[in-house]
Amino acid sequence: MKAVAVTPSQKEVGIIEHPSPALHQDDEVRVRTIDVGICGTDREICTFVYGDPPSGSEHLVLGHEAMGEIVEVGANVSNLKVGDFVVPSVRRPCQDKNCLACQSNLQDFCSTGNYVERGIKECHGFMTESFVEQEQYLTHVPDNLKDVAVLTEPLTIAEKGLAQAWAAQQRLPWVRHYDGEKPTGKGLNAVILGAGPIGILGAMTMKAAGFETYVYNRSPAPNPKSDIIESIGAKYISSQDTPLEDLPKVMGSVDLIYEAVGISALAFDALSILGVNGVYIFTGIPAPGARIPIDANQLMRDVVLGNQAIIGTVNADDASFKAAISDLAYFKQHWPEAIEAVITKRFPVDDCRELLLERATGIKNVISFA
Ligand SMILES: [Zn+2]
Ligand SMILES: [Zn+2]
Repeated sequence: MKAVAVTPSQKEVGIIEHPSPALHQDDEVRVRTIDVGICGTDREICTFVYGDPPSGSEHLVLGHEAMGEIVEVGANVSNLKVGDFVVPSVRRPCQDKNCLACQSNLQDFCSTGNYVERGIKECHGFMTESFVEQEQYLTHVPDNLKDVAVLTEPLTIAEKGLAQAWAAQQRLPWVRHYDGEKPTGKGLNAVILGAGPIGILGAMTMKAAGFETYVYNRSPAPNPKSDIIESIGAKYISSQDTPLEDLPKVMGSVDLIYEAVGISALAFDALSILGVNGVYIFTGIPAPGARIPIDANQLMRDVVLGNQAIIGTVNADDASFKAAISDLAYFKQHWPEAIEAVITKRFPVDDCRELLLERATGIKNVISFA
């Protein structure tokens, strides 16, 4: 069957012939791939800076943002059946019995670094006609969400980020409002840095959680991204109109910053506008390289005197996948056009080299195997 793979030893990217996978364990299912999203991680792997094939393989099958339909189930699969739509998670635990995170099914917090990641690190991904996965790493997708469920994995970044923010803000009992079971951001202000797919999905997540939500991005409005942001009732602010330091004048106290740009200069500049008792979530991964000047004394004073929390977050756990499916249902109900507009276009697999190697365009491009 066809798969999209990188062969680092040959510096090659493209379609290869890959053996069809079979079930090897009773808790596995075989999934017919429908959609696979392409993101910056895939494009970086195609520049061979990282992305390791599994041991014994010359190539790594790409793809970690997938949605598919179950076509075969093992004897011990209990909660999924043939015909169900599912999304897989990405990271698989390390084998170290002393890694309490992996032993607790929280491999997103793995402490050894010996985890593997499908489509990224030492494990084949999902950009292929079908794949096999254990039931525990799959999240069920309700039928009415199948056209947007390829966004689940990138959305989990925001879900885990928000969960970390709530965990930190448990220290502030007066802002720990609840809306039923869920904490709510009502009365609080959030800033999203960047309006790529992670930023837009972050804005939707914060808005759905009740925050007054602002997205700060370089391009002037109107543009396709600002249209999506404004249509969900969040506010889009261009850095070309409003300098970062003026944001608190526009929006009031900055209670939460969700960084989704991966540009350290902007990310650290934004730390200076974080409000008292605020929480800052970093999600971007800048390339190592040139040092940037920052006013470290002022930033450290602000962090200490303002009781600020700065949290990095990567990957996602099972709870974040469930939260993402639940939020996708909310987005689809309240902002159907906006969530559909995040998916720029579906392409046949034969277009993979252009999508992976040429200049990035649109918001979220998807390879469709259906
Ligand atoms: Zn991705
Ligand atoms: Zn581990």
